[in-house]
Amino acid sequence: MDSDKNSVLIAVREAPMRKSLMEGNNLKGKNIINYSEECSNTLIVDGNVYSFDYAFNSSVTQSEIYDAIVHPLVLKVLSGYDCTALAYGQTGTGKSYSMGMTAEPMTEDHLGVVPRCLNDILKQLSELKQQKENDTPPTLVSASFIEIYNEKAYDLLALNADQPIASRSQRRFSSSVYMPLRNQMDLQQILKLGIKNRHVRPTSMNGNSSRSHAIVTIHVIKGNSHARLNIVDLAGSEGVRRTGNEGLARAEGVCINKGLLCINKVLLSMSAGYSMIPYRDSILTTVLQAFKS
Ligand code: ADP
Ligand code: MG
Repeated sequence: MDSDKNSVLIAVREAPMRKSLMEGNNLKGKNIINYSEECSNTLIVDGNVYSFDYAFNSSVTQSEIYDAIVHPLVLKVLSGYDCTALAYGQTGTGKSYSMGMTAEPMTEDHLGVVPRCLNDILKQLSELKQQKENDTPPTLVSASFIEIYNEKAYDLLALNADQPIASRSQRRFSSSVYMPLRNQMDLQQILKLGIKNRHVRPTSMNGNSSRSHAIVTIHVIKGNSHARLNIVDLAGSEGVRRTGNEGLARAEGVCINKGLLCINKVLLSMSAGYSMIPYRDSILTTVLQAFKS
């Protein structure tokens, strides 16, 4: 994340109507969200007007989302900057789908952000290499996969992925396992391994709801330069009272919300241009700050 004012962009993606909601409700074809005709990045819900940097309706494709908001980040990363793309929203609305944090291989149309980033980075690097025949030192691309669960960080690619590698009291944090990313097969294996180790629990909205915030980081390393692209699949926000969850599920909900609130505070401070950014209020924001150069 950069700290200048324009470094935070917000896009909203409308999820397609779920079949279960359409059945018996006569909702097919009914628009709950309306888009302003004058301004393409503005939407209207119940007469209230909301403006974003981008507003995508439910027919937007994965590739359109990528080209508009993530491809520019890849170009920045290849110039040596650290960047972060976060997916935020209620559970079941398509965050993991949009970010491509799924273990199953997807067809080209459905590929999400992570595999598209890798394709893009590898393509750009091979074009650069062709231009400069002497590519020394070589550029190395690798990935790490971290999850934040109950205010602790876990390395999902480590052999002991069930042991936290950082908690709130720890000031410095670094991922222990980087795996090489030479092609989509490498990525598929990393996602499979990491997702198997993620904390999930069925909820009323999603049979496989993530109970943690997950961060795939693509590292681009050339000599002394180390740029990171963090792709974050946040856990869905929870109405702790409304879900009626008790025990561990309730504690998970409280921690999920805490991370989300802290992200909110960090983004507000960054977009307001404050010099003090409250990274340290949650392990999620601490970890993301630790990834900055
Ligand atoms: P979340 O991560 O926000 O809880 P998911 O990404 O798991 O939600 O999405 C829930 C289900 O809806 C998944 O089966 C996913 O493939 C599907 N889905 C979500 N968004 C879309 C979309 N835009 N097009 C097609 N399927 C989608
Ligand atoms: Mg998910």
